[in-house]
Amino acid sequence: MKVFKFGGASVNSVERIQHIKDILLAYKNEKLIVIISAMGKTTNALEKVTEAFYNGKKEEALQLFNVIKNNHLTTAKYLLVTHYNACYEQLNNFFTEVEWLLHDKPVQEYDYYYDQVVCCGELLSTCIISYYLNEAGVANKWVDVRDIIRTDDNFREANIDWDYTSKKTIQLVQENDNNIILTQGFIGSTDENESTTLGREGSDYTAAVFANILNAESQTIWKDVEGVMSADPKQFPDAQLMPELSFDEVIEMAYYGAQVIHPKTIKPLQNKGIPLHVKCFLDASLPGTIIYKKQVKNLPPVIIIKEKQVLMHLHSQDFSFVGEKPMSELYKMLGELNIKPNLIQTGAISLQLCLDDRVEKIEQLAASASLIFDVQVEKDLSLLTIRHYTDDLLFKMTSNKQIILKQQTPQTVQILYR
Ligand code: ASP
Ligand code: MG
Repeated sequence: MKVFKFGGASVNSVERIQHIKDILLAYKNEKLIVIISAMGKTTNALEKVTEAFYNGKKEEALQLFNVIKNNHLTTAKYLLVTHYNACYEQLNNFFTEVEWLLHDKPVQEYDYYYDQVVCCGELLSTCIISYYLNEAGVANKWVDVRDIIRTDDNFREANIDWDYTSKKTIQLVQENDNNIILTQGFIGSTDENESTTLGREGSDYTAAVFANILNAESQTIWKDVEGVMSADPKQFPDAQLMPELSFDEVIEMAYYGAQVIHPKTIKPLQNKGIPLHVKCFLDASLPGTIIYKKQVKNLPPVIIIKEKQVLMHLHSQDFSFVGEKPMSELYKMLGELNIKPNLIQTGAISLQLCLDDRVEKIEQLAASASLIFDVQVEKDLSLLTIRHYTDDLLFKMTSNKQIILKQQTPQTVQILYR
């Protein structure tokens, strides 16, 4: 068994969807679980629908949803001949589910509605692609992953119930003769049949959950890049492809904010020693990157830049030390608000936290922290992380910057600048 995941960029046009067929034809005789994301920017568009609905702008929400509907129907029309009517019917069921909800008044929390609406992106894309592949000679079984992936009701960041999910996954594979099972990533459902999502970009994680449960031979993430690069090639034209990486390196990269792979993806694979391939769907003959348990030496400097950073300065109110008690209270606040600082620097009577700029959360944290500290917030900063840095590169990248904070180990340097 192998697990494949195709991201939104690999299904954002008719040509690209047709290209997936070519890739899958080469694996015709293998057992595969294929996970496909929502098409292109559909998830962002569905977020806008939810926002409009929640802000009481029902007409706007319906209009925005209509655009999404039409895009999917147009794609289905281009791709399908004999299966169009059946597909149309199934798509309509998904549309109706969302539209019913949009006609209601919001009475529950925002995150609940978010998940009920946003989950439809992957349902629509996989529905169309499954029909298309069946029509094009790649036999597959479409599965609503919400029947398999059981989660708690922590909407937008739901946690997987591994026992239930494992049983269902194993049963699914046992009861299925099809070589290819085609399903969604990123979504699941509670024991009360409410839809949930696992966090943005969560499809990689779903693939890893399946790989772990089924002891898969490997997982492959098909992307629109050559493999894992040492920096974003759009910003750094001499970014290098890294042909192999260890799990340790990738989990560090994801932690520091590299947009390579969803951070939760590594653990399920590492725990079972399942290799992860990152391959280019535009040219499947390229080797891509393999990530596995082996230690990999001589890596190039890996550059990660996080924009829109906020620095929160916390200062002791009465000149007492920032000891364990205020620190543990601060960690409790961070935990309650589900905030993960990107960097923490402590001093005798002050400490500084570098955070992603999520306005609401920053305000809530500032309000709670002001009970024990004087609080100041500075915005619009950038956080540069370089792993395996050289002094030359570090100098080159920071000489013209106004540095606010710097943390350095022999492996990694982090610099926050204005
Ligand atoms: N469609 C979801 C997103 O864009 C999940 C994913 O693609 O991994 O975040
Ligand atoms: Mg994606």
